[in-house]
Amino acid sequence: MNVKYKGSCLCGGVTFGVDGFNEQAANCHCTMCRKFHGASFGTLVGVSGLKWLSGKESLKHFTASNGTVRTFCNECGSSLGFRVKGASIEEIELAISTFDECIPVKINAQIYTNYKASWSQLQNDLPVFGEGK
Ligand SMILES: [Zn+2]
Ligand SMILES: [Zn+2]
Repeated sequence: MNVKYKGSCLCGGVTFGVDGFNEQAANCHCTMCRKFHGASFGTLVGVSGLKWLSGKESLKHFTASNGTVRTFCNECGSSLGFRVKGASIEEIELAISTFDECIPVKINAQIYTNYKASWSQLQNDLPVFGEGK
C-alpha cells in the first residue's frame, strides 16, 4: 500500500489515502453543499488511487432526491464525500478539508453562486459561475 496523501474525519475513526488529485477544484455554494458541510460553501476534489485505511464500516451514505450520494462518518458526522448519481464509492470526490497535510490542488472557481447565502462573501480573485461550470 503506497499512498501519498492522507486524510481523516474529525474523530479519527475513518482514515484514507490517495495517490493524486485533480489539479483544480471549485468552491460550491449550492444549497446541498451548504447543508452537508454546514458552511458557506463546500469544496470537493477528485482523487486517484483512493484507499480506505480504517473505519470503512463507519461510512454512512445519504442519497438525495436527485440521486447524488453524500458520504459521512457515522460517529462524528464529518462530511467526507460526494458522488454523482450511479457512481461507485471508488469514484467519490472528497471533501478537501479532510486532508491532513498540504495537497497540490488549486481552487479555480466559485460555482452555483446563485444559491449562496446572503452573508457569504465571494472571493474577488476567482471566477464566478451562477450555476455549474
Ligand atoms: Zn469520524
Ligand atoms: Zn454543491
